[in-house]
Amino acid sequence: MEENKEKSIQNKVVIVTGGSRGIGAQIVKTLAKENYRLILNYNKSEQKAKKIQEELKNEGIEIEIFKADVSKREDAKSLIEFTLKKYGTIDILINNAGIAGSKLFTDITDEDWNNMININLNSAFYCTQEALKTMINNKDGLIINISSIWGLTGSSCEVAYSVAKSALNGMTKALAKELGLSNIRVNAIAPGIIDTDMNSYLTNEEIEKVKEEIPLNKIGKTDDIARCVKWLIEDEYTTGQIISINGGWYI
Ligand code: NAP
Repeated sequence: MEENKEKSIQNKVVIVTGGSRGIGAQIVKTLAKENYRLILNYNKSEQKAKKIQEELKNEGIEIEIFKADVSKREDAKSLIEFTLKKYGTIDILINNAGIAGSKLFTDITDEDWNNMININLNSAFYCTQEALKTMINNKDGLIINISSIWGLTGSSCEVAYSVAKSALNGMTKALAKELGLSNIRVNAIAPGIIDTDMNSYLTNEEIEKVKEEIPLNKIGKTDDIARCVKWLIEDEYTTGQIISINGGWYI
C-alpha cells in the first residue's frame, strides 16, 4: 500500500519555471532523480537548459525542456499546452522564474517597475491560472511559489521586487483558501540569500558582511530550497504557508 503511494507520488508531472539556472535548476535535478516527470522551462539560457537535460540523460533520466517567457500570457499558455500534450496532465507547478534589481525608489522607471512585476508576479498568475484548468478537473494539485524574505520584510532599494514578492505571498494565502476544497495546496518558499547568479554582483567583502547578519553565519545553497520543495510535495496537509528558509536572517 505504502509502496504504491510512493510510486504514484513520484510519477507526478512537475513544471519548474526558470529551471535553467540557480534554484530552479537544482529543483529540476533533485526531483528528476526522484523519478518525477519534469518540464524545465527556460527563457534565455537555452544552452544551460540543454546541458541539464544532457547531464540527466547520461544518468538515464529523461526530462523535457521548453522555452517560454512566462511573464507573457501566451507563452505561459503554450508551456501548459506543451505539458498536457506530452504527459496528459499537470500535478505540480513550481513558479520559480524571477529577476532581482537594485535601484533607489525615486529612480525606478515605469519600465523597471512593470518588468519586475511581470516576471516575478504576473508569471505566477498566468502559469497558475492556465495549470488550474487541469488541476481543478483532477481535484488534485500543488502550487509552490518561490518568493523571498523581501516579500516578508521589505528591502531598501528593492521596492518593486519586495512588492512583487509580498503580492506573491498574498496570492499564495488567498488561493490556498479558494482551492482547498478542490484538494489543491498552494504554498510559498521565501528564501533568504542563496548562492546563485542572482547575487553574483556582490563582492566577497559584501558577502562576508551579509553572513555576519545571519545567525547560521552562512549563505544558503540551492539544495536547501530544493529539499523543501521535495518535502512540500511529499506532505499532504500544508497549505497557505510561506516557509522562509533563511538561516535565521529574518525571524
Ligand atoms: P537566477 O540564478 O538568476 O535564475 C533565474 C531563473 O529565472 C533563470 O533560470 C531564468 O531563465 C529564469 N527566468 C527569468 N526570467 C524569466 C522569464 N521571463 N521566463 C522564464 N524564465 C525566466 O535566480 P535564482 O537565485 O535561482 O532565483 C530563483 C527564484 O528564487 C527567483 O524567483 C528569485 O526571486 C527567488 N529568490 C532568490 C534568492 C537568492 O538569493 N538567490 C533569494 C530569494 C528569492 P533564463 O536564464 O533561461 O532566462
